[in-house]
Amino acid sequence: MVEKKSKTVKKAPVKKTVAKKAPVKKTVAKKAPVKKVAVKKSSKATIANNKSKIAPYKSKKGEKYMSAAMKKHFVAVLLLWKEHLKDEMQKTFDHLRAKGETYADPVDRASQEEEFAFELRTRDRERKLISKIGLSIEQIKQDDYGWCESCGDEIGIKRLEARPTATHCIHCKTLDEIKEKQLNG
Ligand SMILES: [Zn+2]
Repeated sequence: MVEKKSKTVKKAPVKKTVAKKAPVKKTVAKKAPVKKVAVKKSSKATIANNKSKIAPYKSKKGEKYMSAAMKKHFVAVLLLWKEHLKDEMQKTFDHLRAKGETYADPVDRASQEEEFAFELRTRDRERKLISKIGLSIEQIKQDDYGWCESCGDEIGIKRLEARPTATHCIHCKTLDEIKEKQLNG
């Protein structure tokens, strides 16, 4: 039989030993210079930052949708965005070229390849976006901008501020997404 220990264990008061923290030693150990890979900002974030540079459009009282001033505003938004994306693409390009060296270590090489693939995908996305922006600017010129391509309703200023290249109103967009989900299981 197992011996029963009937001792009620009295909890010793927890002594808070204030351990003397050793002052944080700033070791100036000679580390191999850490190669700072340009911080990968998701391009989404940078787009958001960029768009906020132009204040959202304030409609005047009784102003009709897609007035000349409104169109001008969105051309400016789209152009600025495009410039920004072009800058980003150039940066990616420079970065890829600068990092063109190949590593002997397979681990390094693998991570480098991964990074390259990531940057190429980003570039591809940016390229597509730039062409979409071009289309939107073209639509503004043709007076087609801001109207849903499915139902013909106003896409709305608010939605266009958030997504200047939107071609569908939020209802049609949502519907499309639901349909797509159903199709893809
Ligand atoms: Zn619609």
